[in-house]
Amino acid sequence: MAHGTRSRGRIELEVIETDIAIIGAGGAGLRAAIAAAQKAPQMKIALISKVYPMRSHTVAAEGGAAGVVASGDTLDNHFEDTVAGGDWLCDQDVVEDFVAHATQELIWLENMGCPWSRQASGEVSVRKFGGMKVPRTWFAADKSGFHILHTLYETSTQFDNIVRYDEHFVVDLVEDNSAIRGVLTYDLHNGHYRLIVCKAVVLCTGGAAQAYRDTTNATIVTGDGMSIAYRHGIGLSDMEFVQYHPTGLPGCGLLITEAARGEGGILVNKDGYRYLQDYGLGPETPLGHPENKTMELGPRDRLSQAFWHEAKKGRTAKTALGDVVYLDLRHLGRAKLDERLPQICELARSYVGVEPAVAPIPVRPVVHYTMGGIRTDIDTATSHCGVFAAGECACNGLHGANRLGSNSLTETLVYGHRAGDMAVEFCRQTQAPNRSALTKAALSRADALMAQFDVADQGQSCAQIRRELGTLMEQHAGIYRHETGLSQAVREIADLKSRYKAVDLKDKSGRVFNFELMHWCELGFTLDVAECMVHAALWRKESRGSHQRIDAECTQRDDDNFLCHSFATPTPNGAPQIASQPVRITKSAPGRRVYGGEMHTNGKVQTEDYDEEHDDERQ
Ligand SMILES: Cc1cc2nc3c(=O)[nH]c(=O)nc-3n(C[C@H](O)[C@H](O)[C@H](O)COP(=O)(O)OP(=O)(O)OC[C@H]3O[C@@H](n4cnc5c(N)ncnc54)[C@H](O)[C@@H]3O)c2cc1C
Repeated sequence: MAHGTRSRGRIELEVIETDIAIIGAGGAGLRAAIAAAQKAPQMKIALISKVYPMRSHTVAAEGGAAGVVASGDTLDNHFEDTVAGGDWLCDQDVVEDFVAHATQELIWLENMGCPWSRQASGEVSVRKFGGMKVPRTWFAADKSGFHILHTLYETSTQFDNIVRYDEHFVVDLVEDNSAIRGVLTYDLHNGHYRLIVCKAVVLCTGGAAQAYRDTTNATIVTGDGMSIAYRHGIGLSDMEFVQYHPTGLPGCGLLITEAARGEGGILVNKDGYRYLQDYGLGPETPLGHPENKTMELGPRDRLSQAFWHEAKKGRTAKTALGDVVYLDLRHLGRAKLDERLPQICELARSYVGVEPAVAPIPVRPVVHYTMGGIRTDIDTATSHCGVFAAGECACNGLHGANRLGSNSLTETLVYGHRAGDMAVEFCRQTQAPNRSALTKAALSRADALMAQFDVADQGQSCAQIRRELGTLMEQHAGIYRHETGLSQAVREIADLKSRYKAVDLKDKSGRVFNFELMHWCELGFTLDVAECMVHAALWRKESRGSHQRIDAECTQRDDDNFLCHSFATPTPNGAPQIASQPVRITKSAPGRRVYGGEMHTNGKVQTEDYDEEHDDERQ
């Protein structure tokens, strides 16, 4: 054990050696660990998570995972739906690779014990998600994430070479001579710092939706891995693309899965009118009609934008928790709701006091997914040798400007697997790292962190800064954005970052389960990510997918200037620099996104329609 000293006492640093350090034990991290353990039984794998693996956000996924299996479906269909859904910003070689590997991962999971829902014939059931031509979402009732994660977790316990570090908070990566070869963690149980010396690091730390006020995401989804990578000079791509899910519960943000609409649920405004027909999302069809192919099953960005317009027209219902529309499931009947959608019925009962079999559920768009993240190539490698990333924290170009529902769970499997394999290959060609240099660097990092306890009280608190951040992101970087609002967000985030440094930690009782210390670290990560989001959104002077600008000259998609990824890297003055990177197009030339009808409004609004106060409808 190595020691360092500082004014607040001795810092104890336990040094552990491993081959591969995987940060995150959600879908991507567990899949990476299993792949690496299978490929290299002699290698040591450290699996690090700030919560117990089964509490990772993957557990909350409801609707299911996409993979071609139904008769009449093809890999080309899956490819085309993904690319069109992503508004042609997807790297098409990645999409081809993804669809080709998707189904085999889902079958592998079944072989490991995942209880996919089945038809009476015994075949796997699939349901339709937004933007799909053909049903291809495998599901386990509406608890798909739970069953997937549980299957992965149980499978991982079979491998002796996977050593878990649960409730270990990763503070930073550690470099020796510019090579990242260590992970500094803080053990919540006893407050000890651990340095995990390794040859390869795999980041699987999930998304960053907690940058926003209203979100479906767990409070732990704070963008840690994205920020940590970025601070070490690894660029973040497409951060301006943040997905709103059209059906979150007001107030708490809990998700009512798209599968509810896949099963035939319809969306109506305060007058009981199926308003989506006014937004080019297809003709009205009778309740639960099988021809309801678009409408409620249009892509998420379009549905969220339609809500915004309805609110502008005064056709949403006002509640104490903000404006809402209604998701009507009554016509599905109690038996089907109990069989296919038990969890969302429970959520509606518990959180908004509605029984879905007898009354429509109030819903509104809430932030759900970050399309952007740590830039990787098709094989999960980042720009930094020996550092890989997979799952929601990564951006390999799969989702483009808008992720298609149910592609993400499959992504965690396909690219988690790939990352595990790649890390093994990298380790085979890499020398053991310099333990003493890494220890010195880690001690100095831990020491700097502990200095936060010495900051004098200047009236700043994590909770206040976090609240302000969430509100400003919602107001200025929400469903619709414009230059004035984004510029204001840039200034306000810079101000929040300086106030953040002045937060004094009130809990000086020690480091054992010191959640204040952890939340302070998380807030720092979220601020970095939010800053990249608003800078990238300001840079992208066009409207595409989930990024819709309403300044007069930016309301259209502009393939001449912006058929490219944004790429954020840190600069010495702290603010990100945004550059462009080419989009790889293999076989689908950019076209129009048409879902079941002509777009009447093309999801666009005129500048004069916008009113800055509007977005904060919550009373
Ligand atoms: C409510 C909800 C429903 C969804 N439904 C679907 C769906 O039906 N279909 C679909 O395809 N997608 C769905 N998604 C999206 C999908 O679930 C996620 O994108 C995916 O599960 C992310 O998996 P992941 O492994 O990348 O990250 P996560 O599951 O979020 O795991 C992140 C891991 O990183 C660890 N970690 C993070 N920071 C640190 C740190 N500093 N130190 C140590 N450990 C750290 C965490 O402890 C955790 O183990 C849904 C998302 C939500 C929020």
